[in-house]
Amino acid sequence: METAALFEKFVVPTYGRFPLSLVRGEGCRVWDEAGAEYLDFGAGIAVCSIGHSHPRMVEALTRQAGRLIHTSNLYLIREQALLAERLVACIGHPGKIFFCNSGAEANEALYKLARKFGNETVPPAPTHTVGELVAAEPRRHGIVTFDGSFHGRTLAGIAATGQAKVKKGFEPIVEGFSQAPFNDMPGLVAAVPPGLAAILLEPIQGERGVHPATPDFLRSTRTLCDERGALLLFDEIQCGLGRTGDWAGWRSLGADDVVPDAVSWAKGIAGGFPMGAIWVRDRPIDLKSGGTISLADLLGPGSHGTTFGGTPLACAVATAVLDVIEEENLLQNARDLGAFAKDSLAALGSRWIAEVRGVGLMLGVELAPDFPAPEGRAPSLALVDQLQTAGLLAVPSGTHAIRWLPPLNVTRAEIERAVDILGSVLQKTA
Ligand code: PLP
Repeated sequence: METAALFEKFVVPTYGRFPLSLVRGEGCRVWDEAGAEYLDFGAGIAVCSIGHSHPRMVEALTRQAGRLIHTSNLYLIREQALLAERLVACIGHPGKIFFCNSGAEANEALYKLARKFGNETVPPAPTHTVGELVAAEPRRHGIVTFDGSFHGRTLAGIAATGQAKVKKGFEPIVEGFSQAPFNDMPGLVAAVPPGLAAILLEPIQGERGVHPATPDFLRSTRTLCDERGALLLFDEIQCGLGRTGDWAGWRSLGADDVVPDAVSWAKGIAGGFPMGAIWVRDRPIDLKSGGTISLADLLGPGSHGTTFGGTPLACAVATAVLDVIEEENLLQNARDLGAFAKDSLAALGSRWIAEVRGVGLMLGVELAPDFPAPEGRAPSLALVDQLQTAGLLAVPSGTHAIRWLPPLNVTRAEIERAVDILGSVLQKTA
């Protein structure tokens, strides 16, 4: 039976899939079942950070698989400890790491951190915020996220996500989450509920067309969290660990001075091997039960866990990916070629491109509102279809944008080729 027919018969149809089956990859290129070659500017939706089949990754994977794949978190795992040390260095501030397996799960750890923080720490004294008296709240479990955000598909993930379409049919929605307008400080202040435990945001929103936060918004949100005794949490699942040309997505926006309380990662962290993780800041917090501990130790023994979190195999692969990013100078490559791609896209001067947004190799191309598409197909999908036929894989983002998220080791020639393909597809668009 053909792949499409097997899917039709045996796979739960949760995804809207393109009729394309990829069987091989090398660097920034992939091949389908019929042998056709594509430039992969989706990279598994920002996952394959050092490209396909990088020899260093293959070597680390096979070496560790032949040595020790899994032990459980009942025991110490040296590869996990060493990777944790590396990831703390990526953030550049003292803290600790919890390992899991996906982005939704990493965010789940953030929600649990926020709940425990709200339930077990001493609430802030009453303060005056923007002229309004905010009383100290006995129940502190509110988590504010943002319109247009995406935080994963678990029940708490869809409660956190600021898009109605992901929640539809899954009511009742997990309690305690609410959304505020993005990049709008007065709007955020007005939307903060009593009993705020945390504010969670993507420094660069990925799923609705690549929208970076402004550095001022990040700074003011940090100040608001401090005033309200709440945690500032960053979802860097798509924008973190090199994608924007910095280990920290928010730093590449010019907000180096902002220090969050916790950060979630997944996607590119192990270059395509499943892994999620959070960093939690080492900062003293006062417990209601008396005493002070570090926030990084709040999720103590028995409070959270997962069977596959931080296996020797996953950690060996992630370490190899970080090594390659460092040794091949890929943060610089992401900065340089991201800027080159952005300029080249703007230079196309196409009437179908309304705006090019993003940082490093996380780029969004917003299409003109009247970009033509077949009946029932969003313009973003229609363009991705045409690019695919022309040999370029890109990722739709919302109804009117496409994303370019190539591997961090993409070359200048590959960017030029992708710009040519996009330019000629747009030129043919009537
Ligand atoms: N958060 C962000 C910003 C994402 O982009 C994604 C995935 O697209 C997630 C969370 C969920 O990650 P996962 O699909 O690994 O659960």
